[in-house]
Amino acid sequence: MRLKARKKHIALLAALLAAIITALCPGCTRIEKAHTDLIAMDTVMDLTIYGPAELLPGAEELIRTLEKELSVTDGGSEIAVLNASGEAKLGENALGLVKAALEYGERTGGAFDICIFPVVRAWGFTTGEYRVPSKEELVSLLPLADSSRVHISGDTVSLDEGTMIDLGGIAKGRAADMLADYFRANGVKSAILNLGGNVLALGAKPNGADWRVGVADPFGSGNACIISCRDKAVVTSGSYQRYFEADGVTYCHIIDPSTGMPVNNGLSSVTVICSNGAEADALSTALFVMGYERASEFWRGSNDFEAVFIFSDGRIAVTEGLSESCSPDGAYADREMEIIKR
Ligand code: AMP
Ligand code: MG
Repeated sequence: MRLKARKKHIALLAALLAAIITALCPGCTRIEKAHTDLIAMDTVMDLTIYGPAELLPGAEELIRTLEKELSVTDGGSEIAVLNASGEAKLGENALGLVKAALEYGERTGGAFDICIFPVVRAWGFTTGEYRVPSKEELVSLLPLADSSRVHISGDTVSLDEGTMIDLGGIAKGRAADMLADYFRANGVKSAILNLGGNVLALGAKPNGADWRVGVADPFGSGNACIISCRDKAVVTSGSYQRYFEADGVTYCHIIDPSTGMPVNNGLSSVTVICSNGAEADALSTALFVMGYERASEFWRGSNDFEAVFIFSDGRIAVTEGLSESCSPDGAYADREMEIIKR
């Protein structure tokens, strides 16, 4: 009994001491740091958490499970089965993401369109066997890229003949959100999750400072600028991320649903910063499709995200909400950043 009381005293004293140290110097208490990287969803993922390493296998399992549900190339996935058979019952993750993706499609006037898959496939972006489809082929495929051909009844999704969907433009963002929820639920207050250029900054750095997230230079190996942020997703869509060349023309993996052609509008990348990973992912793809003028108008009509535009000629423009938190870096350090105003 006396031993128990003494142990309790010691534990109380230790807690009190830790609280005093934290109060006097917030960065002084050591928080365990753990890191893992893995290849999933067609990219290298890099997860750093300030929390116990025991949480990492669970995070990896979460990613693998989601990939198995959503992949368009894994024949057994819920989405692949839906595409092959035209109708399928979807689980909570896939169904929730299809619904969210259709909403982003509506919000962006069809610039984000998960039904673009038959066209993406015709260009060879799913298999890596790249080719330039004929005009006739594109004309026959484009009517299939129409979200009114997707029907949802309860947990069953059905697709009209020939229509197929691809969640590749939003899946990594949702994966980042799910990882963040998992880590938060397990007590992690600080983490940086990089899912192949799709970054989620959970909380702030352990010392209380903002995370600093680099926006890749589309023309080099460094960063074009650094975003200071906390509790934000920072997601980039760019023509430099996946493309092929044929007869001297470069074709990128993001398709304009109004033409069926790879986007070629003077932008090299668009980065969206907002508090939701799936939204940042869908919007970065959509804004890239829209092009600079339409995308900045879209931003003026919204209030839940900021964006960085990097042009093919090396210019850089940022929305005014980033004027204090975005600093040019590397080869861009001396360049003027245009500020897009409301
Ligand atoms: P992201 O890297 O997030 O911009 O997504 C690009 C991927 O989304 C492509 O590799 C395609 O699988 C798919 N995709 C291409 N164009 C579109 C589009 N207009 N809307 C939705 N997804 C698209
Ligand atoms: Mg995207």
